[in-house]
Amino acid sequence: MTIPYPWLENPWHELMREKEKLPHALLFTGEAGIGKLALAQYLAQFLLCESDAKTTQPCGLCDACRWFIAGNHPDYRLLQPADAEDSVEESDVAKKPKKKSSVIGVEDIRDLSDFVNLSAHRGGIRVTIVAPAEAMNTSAANAFLKTLEEPPAGAVFILVSDHWRRLLPTIRSRCRVFPLTIPDHKTAMHWLETQFVVNPVLHLAHVGGAPLAAAEDAAAEWLPVRSAMLEKIAEPATLNVLTLAAELEKAKLDTSLIIEWLQKWVYDVISLGMTGIIRYYPDWKDALERVAPRAHLLFNLLNELNEAQRLAYHPLNQRLVLESLFFGYLDALRGQDRRG
Ligand SMILES: [Zn+2]
Repeated sequence: MTIPYPWLENPWHELMREKEKLPHALLFTGEAGIGKLALAQYLAQFLLCESDAKTTQPCGLCDACRWFIAGNHPDYRLLQPADAEDSVEESDVAKKPKKKSSVIGVEDIRDLSDFVNLSAHRGGIRVTIVAPAEAMNTSAANAFLKTLEEPPAGAVFILVSDHWRRLLPTIRSRCRVFPLTIPDHKTAMHWLETQFVVNPVLHLAHVGGAPLAAAEDAAAEWLPVRSAMLEKIAEPATLNVLTLAAELEKAKLDTSLIIEWLQKWVYDVISLGMTGIIRYYPDWKDALERVAPRAHLLFNLLNELNEAQRLAYHPLNQRLVLESLFFGYLDALRGQDRRG
């Protein structure tokens, strides 16, 4: 079976160079949307593949490979945040949109240790992927650390992380860190064209260069929501923060996604104002140019947005968070920095 994406070939060959002595815990880091999970799954399948002819690729034909592809290999687990509803705090009267949980809890890790401590069904190894690893909450991470510290024989863990700095340092230090980079523009463009993505240059810019994220961006149902938001924040003089926050809340999107749009906008305003370069929203050049003369007022806001992004992992009242950030944007543009 071939490597899932062309830009993963080099990292894969690097892994294969030491395939006989891979550590029991690997951590794949890098931007979202570059195929870290796909690489982890390919490695998991390779490790589980039972073909005698196996050299540097899973065969795709043996029992193990077929079970893996069908998603029911008994010695494989993919641990991701459950599709359950977020636990909503009772005190929070605001109506929350129903959304996917973003957390891997301690119960999930307990279920996992039952799996890793049993002997393998096929007598070989057991592979667990945790993606994204930073989704483990503190108690889950501590429980997982115990498993990493005393790994049962034959257990292999592959962690995938977009934000590895959010992982417990004690977890990081027990893994071989394997950083993956954004593929070069030409490779990414070529792949997007093979996927029939319309306007690949734009979508690649919107996501900062990650090809899978660009394909997702191109197909996203929320494109009109983002356009509507950008249109409004491009006209600070007439921006009605309360209306905008309420409209965005109705779209039922992740808070972190909306903050990301705003982060990229503010980044582009600053970048255009300071260096004349637009990184994320080249299709919004005219609008960005109107705000860019006030770029120097937005530095602190960028820090504030980064902080808000860090907190967005926890359940929050989305509308209030967005209102606060948009008011912060308007205040900053008026030269009224709340931090003085
Ligand atoms: Zn196989």
